[in-house]
Amino acid sequence: MEVSGDVAEETAAASAERPESIRREELRLIPVEVDAGKAIYREVLPGIMQIPADAALALARSSSIWPMTFGLACCAIEMIATYMSHYDLDRFGIFPQASPRQSDVMIIAGTVTKKMGPSVKLLYEQMPNPKWVISMGACANNGGPYTRYSRVVQGVDKLIPVDVYVPGCPPRPEALMDGFIALQHKIMEERGKAS
Ligand code: SF4
Repeated sequence: MEVSGDVAEETAAASAERPESIRREELRLIPVEVDAGKAIYREVLPGIMQIPADAALALARSSSIWPMTFGLACCAIEMIATYMSHYDLDRFGIFPQASPRQSDVMIIAGTVTKKMGPSVKLLYEQMPNPKWVISMGACANNGGPYTRYSRVVQGVDKLIPVDVYVPGCPPRPEALMDGFIALQHKIMEERGKAS
């Protein structure tokens, strides 16, 4: 639409007459110019990204850890708290699963009694490979406060292999998150070895 010379002059004059504060506000509302940029790998290898297959697999595995929802004693309450929105494990790709057949990490959260030991082993065996175990808390690590109780297993590593030990009685959610990050590093370091 064409604007006549008189109208344009009137508009410019009206703009000039605006108070300084309004003109500053208008300047602040000018949209930011965005430089789309280019990912560095696209500059080095346009359209191509080379990565070893085992590294890609390990990256996928470490970024989508699915622990089994399974707790044994008071440490399980801290584990449940870690899954809640305040700590938000989802942002690490960590989603609890209700079945060992869809899980790749077992968190031993609590006291392992000799009565419970066979069930812990059975659940571990039902998990598909590759699989990992986090021992959470003093009880699972070495019997904790129950070192003199003959009916308590003195460390779950007597029954199944453990990858990460999280100390504490109980460990805080931050400690469990630290354990997950340690496990992610381990998965990346052991890439190519996991079946
Ligand atoms: S380590 Fe402490 S908090 Fe955890 S299960 Fe044992 S007694 Fe309970």
